[in-house]
Amino acid sequence: MSEEKKTEGQKLEERLSYKRQNVWERVDEEYIKKAFDFCEEYKSFLNASKTEREFAANTEKLAIAAGFRKLEDLAASNTRLKPGDKVCFINRKKSAVLAVIGKRPVSEGVNIIGAHIDAPRLDLKQNPLYEDTEMAFFKTHYYGGIKKYQWLTIPLAIHGVVVKGDGTPVEIVIGENEDDPVFSITDLLPHLAREQMQKKMSEAVSGEGLNVLLGSLPFRDDKVKEKVKLTILDILNKRYGIVEEDFQSAELEMVPAQKFRDVGFDKSMVGGYGQDDRVCAYPALRALLDIDTPDRTAVCLLTDKEEIGSMGNTGAQSNLLQDFLANIIALTEDNYSDLKLRSCLSKSRMLSADVNAAVDPNYDSVYEKRNATYLGHGIVLQKYGGSRGKYDSSDASAEFVGEIRKLFNDNGIMWQTGELGKVDEGGGGTIAQYAANLGIDVIDCGIAVLSMHSPFEITSKIDIYMSYNAYKVFLK
Ligand code: MN
Ligand code: MN
Repeated sequence: MSEEKKTEGQKLEERLSYKRQNVWERVDEEYIKKAFDFCEEYKSFLNASKTEREFAANTEKLAIAAGFRKLEDLAASNTRLKPGDKVCFINRKKSAVLAVIGKRPVSEGVNIIGAHIDAPRLDLKQNPLYEDTEMAFFKTHYYGGIKKYQWLTIPLAIHGVVVKGDGTPVEIVIGENEDDPVFSITDLLPHLAREQMQKKMSEAVSGEGLNVLLGSLPFRDDKVKEKVKLTILDILNKRYGIVEEDFQSAELEMVPAQKFRDVGFDKSMVGGYGQDDRVCAYPALRALLDIDTPDRTAVCLLTDKEEIGSMGNTGAQSNLLQDFLANIIALTEDNYSDLKLRSCLSKSRMLSADVNAAVDPNYDSVYEKRNATYLGHGIVLQKYGGSRGKYDSSDASAEFVGEIRKLFNDNGIMWQTGELGKVDEGGGGTIAQYAANLGIDVIDCGIAVLSMHSPFEITSKIDIYMSYNAYKVFLK
């Protein structure tokens, strides 16, 4: 409709009302092509990064190739850093911090994008291997919030590390190559599931029922009691040199074996495992790798253990970020002091890059649609998370939300606001609160996901690319 045909009311409505917009309808063909291209790189990075260890290792490879130097080397030689220098620190192989040094002093604050690189999965127990009914199994303990039934009858791969008795680590990945075997957790046939089907979904599959099928070939020796188990131990010993006790010092994770796929006739979506929160972590990492010398030092923080409360020395509650910033200050400014670190923290800004729940029309009733997030509607700004009266939420200030809103609007970033489900329906936390506790201005800012925490999470390609651009704008 042309301007002059619009009524006064229409013009007024246009000027005053807030409208959600579908990004696909507002960007040009070239932008869409770039989004599809970006997601090809995204899919292949995630196919190779199914655990926090793999994501951290691949982060290090990308960073070193892009000219980043290791913090421990720089600190050991007291190498002075100047604007444009690139630094990375991989923490215990499971979390990472990277920075591009800016023109202004680090003690005047930095811009941080923080995401987590762990994802829900099934961890092997410490003594996992057993035989029952002439089949061998692994006992598991699930990690993070899962709906247990989703993990039955799908092909699973095993990823992780075993530290042998002499201290040498052995890395294991089985189930990703076409000729690899996969593993699986069985389910009851419907014919015999009358009782199971009457149970609540939360009780139909028990934690101790998540046992992974491994083999069925007996070792040919009648003097041996557990012949199938021995076959498995024999295979593992020949291939990796490990014995059963080595499982006690191992971290082995069962993850979905399938690769990332495009979803939909139009290929507008991406489906695969671990997108919470690697769908934010990858664009955040790429944004940092792709910027030139920023005004304020740009930082990318990739944490572990978010799905179990950000605990431990690789989680967001650790001193990882503070220690990194302290080192950066010491390598860029004279006379390091604790006050400089505190000044840096209180003047820093952070986007806590984590996912949000996209409205799923199959489950309408849990969303409050005026304040929910939508697939394809751009990056999500979530002012507060938590649940039951904003409990456990750091709640970003109006001033900081305003700052980010203006930044995005001024730079053509399409964004939406979002709250995780209806009030009192549930909720969830992110790493935002731990950054806020340090004095950092922080807001959750990530991507909408369908089927979150399932073995096959779905996201929109246009949201992924928009987020990459949003993170770049924030770091520049
Ligand atoms: Mn998350
Ligand atoms: Mn999560």
